[in-house]
This record gives sequence, structure tokens and C-alpha cells, in this order.
Amino acid sequence: MNKEVQQFLSNKTKGAFINGKFVNATSEKAIAVVNPATEETLSEVVVSNKELVNEAVQAANHQLENGDWSKLLANKKEYLLLKYADLIEENTSALAELLVLEHGKLLSDAKKEVSAAVNCFRYYAGWATKIEGSTIDVSLSGGNHFAYTKREPVGVVGAIAPWNVPIMMYAWKIAPALACGCTIVFKPSEETPLTSLLLAELSKEVGIPDGVINIVPGDGATTGQAITNHPLISKITFTGSSATGRIIGQNSAKLLKEFTLELGGKNPVLVLDDADFSKVPGGVAKGIFYNQGQVCVSGSRLYLPKNKFDNTLADIASIAEKMKLGSGLDENTKLGPVVSKDHFNKVMNYIDEGKQDSIEVVTGGGRAFDKGYFVEPTVFANTDNKAVSVATDEIFGPVITAMPYSNVDDLLEKANATEYGLSASIWTSNLGNAHYLADKVKAGIIYINSAVRSDPNLPLGGFKQSGIGSELGKSAINGFTKLKSVCINY
Ligand code: NDP
Repeated sequence: MNKEVQQFLSNKTKGAFINGKFVNATSEKAIAVVNPATEETLSEVVVSNKELVNEAVQAANHQLENGDWSKLLANKKEYLLLKYADLIEENTSALAELLVLEHGKLLSDAKKEVSAAVNCFRYYAGWATKIEGSTIDVSLSGGNHFAYTKREPVGVVGAIAPWNVPIMMYAWKIAPALACGCTIVFKPSEETPLTSLLLAELSKEVGIPDGVINIVPGDGATTGQAITNHPLISKITFTGSSATGRIIGQNSAKLLKEFTLELGGKNPVLVLDDADFSKVPGGVAKGIFYNQGQVCVSGSRLYLPKNKFDNTLADIASIAEKMKLGSGLDENTKLGPVVSKDHFNKVMNYIDEGKQDSIEVVTGGGRAFDKGYFVEPTVFANTDNKAVSVATDEIFGPVITAMPYSNVDDLLEKANATEYGLSASIWTSNLGNAHYLADKVKAGIIYINSAVRSDPNLPLGGFKQSGIGSELGKSAINGFTKLKSVCINY
């Protein structure tokens, strides 16, 4: 094990990171963080109660209103964010290994995730000096008028994150918030809090003032609710399931907080007859099995033309059958465990429901190994297009359900027949078809001839029940600032 990781894990109970230090728990409750590949406990993390969340919010509010952070020039913020990105990059090995241990993903993917976080911090470092307003023409009588707008930090941000890409979530929320001059209270998922705590520790080394970044580990019912209900938090940025998003939206609206909700998806993969079928099976398999299918933009509903249905499915099944399951730390592993026992049970229940609904299992459908939360990569063929749970619900696991379609109108109707609207991937060699379908599919991000891509400059936001607002790109800058108008009579 990496020495830094060993040292980090040697302190068995971790507290919240508030105002630049790890604080001792005032709460009695602690949650075990379990390695999903071995089922062994790695560490315990305290559940931050209302009092701890309040301490974190007060520290963040002080920095926002009167602290060093509030006085720091934009180019100094840029410099600190760049330094932070460099330090995260230097610590790639430790962060990636800790991520594999708490989450289960492949080490190669964990390293890519750290690299994506580094890119995100560098990207938003650049934005810190480029936030601007406009001059506005007004038609007011009674004097000469000059009017302009400016963007100000939205305030103390409360961030609530899921477990699927913990390091990326940390970067997606903290980097733009800081670039805009906000301060933050961040709750990682109770399943994967360790990497956020290590990242916060690193922020101290680069000189980001104490109280700008605060990490409050804990569960949704205690810590998450204390964040959404705190009156000094001006904006909630939430990523997670649509069910939780609805509760958080309601709670935020009661206090008239701003909120952004990045929610779930049951994303369609639309394969046209004119697609390059030498690339489709590999692309579709990557789109569902990457990160064990625990990606909000995973393509989990596959629509194939009738005449290509059996052959394409056989090719995808053959890729799935060759995937070696095992610990993410083993470099031969192609599919790790799902994140937790609860999630394993949820995914297996869906697979069982699919079998009970008489949906054909083309491959997989079982548990692998006696120990660890390993689910076989599973392909269902729903040839009669039945409205069964494996075809309609977000499973968030390595499970794909394929359905045949007869023509493009039929395909579009089926692809859009869902309450979700997060992503879609379209496979075609015809540019006209690509543009036509990209316009007609109701989803926030469309991938043409690829799947599961992300770039800090490319906004991500859901349509329909998949969310409100967008993250990344310039959208995040708008989301973490408030527009102020100034009107001068001279
Ligand atoms: P959950 O909705 O279960 O939880 C997300 C976060 O919300 C966790 O930190 C959780 O705490 C917290 N939470 C739960 N209940 C409350 C509450 N009442 N008040 C405040 N906070 C609460 O999602 P998962 O963690 O299971 O993540 C998977 C989901 O995230 C999937 O639906 C996936 O699609 C979605 N997702 C969406 C993305 C997007 O960009 N659109 C990206 C990644 C994931 P706790 O620690 O107790 O779980």
C-alpha cells in the first residue's frame, strides 16, 4: 500500500475538516467506510451533526464576508487554484489508490479521475480572472444615466455529492465555487468520504485560507439535511438520485436558496442501421460497463435495428464475458465491485426482477465470488419492448437492456419514452441523421459515436426528471455568482 495512504488510514476515526483542521467528533455516531472488493473496514468517519455543520458554515461565512478570502485579488485566487491542481497531480498515486480502496474502481480509471480533477481545477483557475458583467443602455429620463452589471459570489455554497466519482465531484463543485469567490461546505457520500478529506488536507498545504473549504462527512438524514436547512447557505449544489434531488429542491425552495440538481438517468443508446458496426459493440460496452455502470450518463437502454439485433448483442455479450472481474488494484482487472452491500443488493434485485419478468438474459445475471460486491456484466434482451423495471429504472450497475426498433420514428418515440433526460449516445455514419437525432432526443448531453465523455468546458445538465441547471463550463460560473445591476445618475 502507498505510504501516504497507509498513514492516512492509520487514524481509524476521521472527523470533519473545518476551518483548516480535522475536528474531534462532537457527534457519537460514526460510519464504517468499507472496501467493496474485500468487505473489510478501511476507516470510520464521523457523522457531522447540526452543530458541526453550523461550525463549518460559520467558518465559511467568515471567510466570505471579512476573511482573507474576501479580500484576495482574482489573480491570487487563480494562482492558488493552479497550485492546488499541481499538488493534486503530485499526489495522484495516493489519491488514486485511496479512491480504489473506498470505491472499488480500477486503478487506471482512478488515475484518470484524478487527472480530470486536476484539469477541472486548472480550467476554473483561468475563469477566476475572467468573470465580467456588461454595460447596459437604459432609457431613463431625469438626468444622464450609466448602468452596468457585475457578477458577485453567490455566497456560502452547500455541496452534496454522490459516491460514483468522488474526486471528480469534489473538483466539479469546489473549483468553480472558489473561482467565483464563494466558500464551501462539502458533504461527500457516506460511502466514499476519504478522498475528499485527503484532498482538503492538501488544500491547506497550498495556502487556501482556513475556512474556505470545509468537509463535513456524514449521512443524508443528518448532515445533508443540516446543510440544506442552514440559513447562511445561499446555494445548494447537489448531485445524486432524482428521489433525493426532489427533497433537496423542496427544502432549498422553502428557504429561497438557489439550487442546482444533477440527477439520475436511464440513458438511451440509439444505434442506426448506417452505424459503423465494427465500433458499436466496444463503444456500447464501454458506455455501460465503465465504472461498473455507476455513471450518471451510462447508456443502459440499447436500441438496435431489428436486422442487426442478434449479431450486435452477441458481440457485446462476448466482450462482457471476457471481462476479468476483481480488485481494482490488480492491473488485469476489467470490472471491479459495485460500491457497497446496499447497492449490490439493489442491482441484484433489479436483475432478479428482470428474470421474473421473463426478459432473456443474454449473458451475466449473477454474483461473482463469495466475497466482495461483484456483479457479472449483464446483458438483457427485451425483444417485446416490455415496460419492465430493467428497461425503465436507473439501475446504476453493469446492466444493459437491449430492444429492437423498426424505423427512425419508432426509435425516437422509444428513446424519449422515459421520465429521465440526462444523456443519449447516437451511433451513425450519416451526419444528417446525427444532427436530426441530436435535435430530437430530449436529453441534456448527446454523444455521437462515443459514450461517457466529459470535459471541464462542456456543460452537463439534465432535462426532465434528470435535473435543474448545469454544471461545468461557463454555466457553473453563472451558477456560483449572482448578477447585480448598478444604475448611476450623473
Ligand atoms: P443519493 O441521492 O442517494 O445521495 C446523494 C447524496 O445526497 C449523498 O451524499 C446522500 O447522503 C445525500 N442525501 C441523501 N438524502 C438526503 C437528504 N434528505 N438531504 C440531503 N442530502 C441527502 O445518490 P447516490 O449517492 O446513490 O448516487 C447515485 C445517484 O447519483 C444516481 O441516481 C446517479 O444517476 C446520480 N448522479 C448524477 C450525476 C449527474 O451529473 N447528473 C453524476 C453522478 C451521479 P448519503 O451519504 O447518506 O448517501
